[in-house]
Amino acid sequence: MDFGIRGRRALVCGASRGLGRGCAEALAAEGVDVTIVARTREALEAAAAEIRAAGGGKVIAVACDITTEDGRARALAACPEPDILITNAAGPPLGDFRDWRRADWIAAIDANMLTPIELIRQTVDAMQARGFGRIVNITSSAVKAPIDVLGLSNGARSGLTGFVAGLARKTVAHNVTINNLLPGQFDTDRLNGTFAAIAAASGQDAATLRAARQDQVPARRFGTAAEFGAVCAFLCSVHAGYLTGQNVLLDGGAYPGTF
Ligand code: NAD
Repeated sequence: MDFGIRGRRALVCGASRGLGRGCAEALAAEGVDVTIVARTREALEAAAAEIRAAGGGKVIAVACDITTEDGRARALAACPEPDILITNAAGPPLGDFRDWRRADWIAAIDANMLTPIELIRQTVDAMQARGFGRIVNITSSAVKAPIDVLGLSNGARSGLTGFVAGLARKTVAHNVTINNLLPGQFDTDRLNGTFAAIAAASGQDAATLRAARQDQVPARRFGTAAEFGAVCAFLCSVHAGYLTGQNVLLDGGAYPGTF
């Protein structure tokens, strides 16, 4: 299937590795020119070189912290009028809500709610004026089924989800869709870091914990960044213009509900 987005411009945040990288690779493979963002220049440049080597759209790398105003300004200066926006940043730390103070909540809300909203604010009107736009926010399965130790993530990402639900119904008349992709467990540094933190706190062995978790997923494995990227690229395709305001769960069947 031709996704019909060859030559479009995409801004992909948090893309030197993991899920954001999977999205950047899938979009570039569809012929989209991608501007990839991550904080560490060396890792980002290496990722850009590998995506370029795979062929497809052009790749620009912008090393910055997307959760800061300056970072967003630099990313948007490199990609001023994206047709496709993939929002993504590191998730908040694990913990117990009794230990979190206002500053911890503000940091989580800033990174995982206000940063995507700011990026949308600065790009959505131009997308509407051009009559094409695809916005995908990488959130978490925790929005649908909260994870107790990830209270900061449950809370901050739910705020973004509620906001997007309203806006997505407004922009779709201009062929601008906004959807959220909800990862369950994907084999990335973030997931392995989470296991290491849980293992350290509980005295368990991280590898044993990882194997046990994998066994609980109906697919009996974790997802891959490439699988995540492929779904993202479809949501950004011309074929997905009637799909907006949705929370698309990718979790190998882990969520047990019918809907
Ligand atoms: P990861 O740590 O493997 O990769 C994160 C990428 O984002 C890296 O390229 C990193 O450099 C970049 N990044 C992080 N913070 C940034 C910032 N402030 N500015 C610019 N770039 C930044 O993580 P991942 O597993 O790909 O997760 C991506 C998102 O999905 C996170 O918010 C994570 O919490 C969420 N998530 C992941 C899983 C999973 O199983 N992997 C599950 C649920 C939710």
